Amino acid sequence: MLDVVIIGSGPAGITAAIYAKRANLNVAVVEKEYLGTGQIAESSRVDNYPGIPGIDGYSLGEKFREHAESLGVEFTEAQVLSLGQKDGIWIIGCDEDITLESKAVIYATGCKNRPLGVPGEEKYYGRGLSFCAVCDGAFYKGKRVAVIGGGDTALDDAIYLSDICEKVYLVHRREFFRGSASTLEKLKQKENVEIIVNVRVEEITGDKKIDGIILDNKTKLNISGLFAAVGMIPQTELLKEFGVLDESNYVKASEDTKTTVNGLFVAGDVRTKQLRQVVTAAADGANAIYSVMEYLRNI
Ligand code: NAP
Repeated sequence: MLDVVIIGSGPAGITAAIYAKRANLNVAVVEKEYLGTGQIAESSRVDNYPGIPGIDGYSLGEKFREHAESLGVEFTEAQVLSLGQKDGIWIIGCDEDITLESKAVIYATGCKNRPLGVPGEEKYYGRGLSFCAVCDGAFYKGKRVAVIGGGDTALDDAIYLSDICEKVYLVHRREFFRGSASTLEKLKQKENVEIIVNVRVEEITGDKKIDGIILDNKTKLNISGLFAAVGMIPQTELLKEFGVLDESNYVKASEDTKTTVNGLFVAGDVRTKQLRQVVTAAADGANAIYSVMEYLRNI
């Protein structure tokens, strides 16, 4: 019997695993696939994690993972298909015929990319439409691309692509950017970046591959790569029956990471919170283990 199963191996899950090992808990981490420690792996540059400015997201993720592995944390690659409680014990049903039993669960599954919402976009996945500039940017060397969005991901992607591509359009539906002011300033200094605000993408054009986008002000941008960076959707399908989700499907919990269900804790981007960053995800992981230990003492 495990003390705690951590579902997800992003910065929140890994930090929880590190704290669990150091607290001598019997812990297992289940991850759907090893992608380099969650979504942060897609960031070209992380400048706000203390102590290692300028590191790329993949390398930061690898450092987290190496740290966890050095403490003996074991990772199970499997998709969790069901989550339930029987006589106070959590049963975590996974594919590959794996079933885990645990006294507590930390749910740290993160978020996935939100689609653009432009009709027919699925046709262009992998044919010019990408959600990851770091992964796919090199395919557009010397070409014209557009990034859609106004958050940190869009700004970071546009900066990254400006060093590879001939021209980068940053297209945002409002005038105000959610992303950091300092990154926006850097972007404005780039000669090959054009920022277009107050417009939405109406149509993606092309045959087998993207050749352009038409905006709702009826201008056409001729591009061969389109990078969607329009936010995240929390991966909380497994928790739908537990009554712990808010109206946007994030898991309701405060900083102590306790949900209203006994033995169920939530950490990282899937939790209701003000700021979704690596540093806040890591903090959640630490808090989750503190709360799990309190829970284990009481049962
Ligand atoms: P985000 O902050 O939610 O921003 C999403 C952007 O997409 C918003 O500007 C939004 O516009 C726009 N948008 C949403 N739906 C759209 C649609 N259908 N069509 C056009 N535009 C649409 O998402 P994110 O940039 O992926 O960031 C997620 C979290 O990760 C944030 O907390 C962010 O700070 C963090 N992050 C941090 C770093 C870093 O620190 N280096 C890097 C990446 C991400 P509106 O503004 O009009 O709503």
